[in-house]
Amino acid sequence: MKSPAVPNTLRVSCRADDFRTAGSANELGDLLAKADARGDPTTVIGQGSNVVLRARLPGLVVQPRIRGLVFERLDERRWRLVAGAGETWQEAVRASLGRGIGGLENLTLIPGSVGAAPVQNIGAYGRELAQVLESVTVVDRERHRLATLSANECAFRYRDSRFKDDGAQRYVIVYVSLVLGVLCANASYPDIRRELGSMGAAAGHGSVAEAVARVRRRKLPDPRRIGNVGSFFKNPRLTAAQLDALRGLVDVDAYVDGDRFKVPAARLVDRAGWKGARQGAVQVWPRQPLVLVNHGGASGREVLAMAQCVRDDVAAKYGVQLELEPAVKGVD
Ligand SMILES: Cc1cc2nc3c(=O)[nH]c(=O)nc-3n(C[C@H](O)[C@H](O)[C@H](O)COP(=O)(O)OP(=O)(O)OC[C@H]3O[C@@H](n4cnc5c(N)ncnc54)[C@H](O)[C@@H]3O)c2cc1C
Repeated sequence: MKSPAVPNTLRVSCRADDFRTAGSANELGDLLAKADARGDPTTVIGQGSNVVLRARLPGLVVQPRIRGLVFERLDERRWRLVAGAGETWQEAVRASLGRGIGGLENLTLIPGSVGAAPVQNIGAYGRELAQVLESVTVVDRERHRLATLSANECAFRYRDSRFKDDGAQRYVIVYVSLVLGVLCANASYPDIRRELGSMGAAAGHGSVAEAVARVRRRKLPDPRRIGNVGSFFKNPRLTAAQLDALRGLVDVDAYVDGDRFKVPAARLVDRAGWKGARQGAVQVWPRQPLVLVNHGGASGREVLAMAQCVRDDVAAKYGVQLELEPAVKGVD
C-alpha cells in the first residue's frame, strides 16, 4: 500500500510512514506515548504552511485536529479566546473581529493552524502573537501529561520560541489562550498607512484588517493556487558595526529591534539579482523576493537547493547569512 501524502502548501511530494490525526488532547497524548514507547521518530504537522518536506517522513506523523473557539468576557474591554490547535488561524481572526474584538487584525490571512502559531511567534505588519498570548496548553511528552505554559515560559523572540529549541521534541500544543481587546489598532507600517489612505479609512481594527488583507493579496502568492510557504528567509538582525559595513555595499533600511537592527532580507535578495530568478519549477517570486514558489513538480530538495544558491550569493556579496524561516523535515 502506498504511504499517505503529507499536506503542505509548498506542494512538494512527501510520504509519511504512518499518518494520523488526533481530535482530542487525550487521543494525541496516547498516539505520542505509544510512538515514544516504541522509540519511533515523530513529526507534528499543522497545515504544512511553514515546512519544507523532504521525500519521506519516517515514523509517526500526527496532525492535531482539536477544535473550538471559546470567548470569555474578562471585563469591560478584555476578552479571553481559547482556541483549539486544529482550528485554522484565520478563523480565530475572523471570529474575534466579527465580535468587534480587536487585537488580531494585523495577523489577518496568515495561513496555518492555531497550534502552530506560537511555534514561530507568527507576526506581520507590526504585531506578533506574543503581544496577545496569555498561555498555551501542551502535551508534555517528558511527563506524559497536559501542562500549561505562560507566555513567559514560551520564550518568544522574533519568529522564534521555545517550541523551536528545547521544547521542540517535548511539547505539542493543544490549546492557545489569547487576551484580546486591549491593544489599539496598529497602522504604523507604511504599506498599511498607504492602503488605509487609498481606502479613505481611519485606522480601526476592521479597517486595518481589510488593509492588511488587500496588501497581502497583492504581494503574496495564494498557496491554494501556487505552492509556497510565505517568507523563506528571516530578516537578519545586525549589530551597529555589521549594519555600517552592509551600508557600505548596499543602500538598506534598518529598524531598531532591541539591541540590534533588523534589515529587510527581501532587499538583499532583490539587490543580489534574484528577484524572478528560476531554477526548474522553483522561482523567487517576482513581487516579493522573500518568497520561493513551486510552479509544480519540484521536490523539497530542489527548493532547498535554490534557497542555498540565494543564501550563498547574498553571503558572498553582502557578508550577511540569511536564515531559513520554514522548518526542514524528513529524509530524501
Ligand atoms: C502565503 C504565506 C504567507 C505567510 N505569511 C506569514 C506571516 O505573515 N507571518 C508569519 O509569521 N508566518 C507566515 N507564514 C508562515 C505560516 O503561515 C505560519 O508559520 C503558520 O503558523 C504555520 O502554520 P501550520 O499549521 O501550517 O504549521 P506547519 O507548517 O504544519 O508547522 C510549522 C512548525 O510547527 C510545528 N507544529 C505544528 N503544529 C504544532 C503543534 N500543535 N504543537 C507543536 N508544534 C507544532 C511543526 O512541527 C513545524 O515545525 C506564511 C505562509 C504562507 C504560505
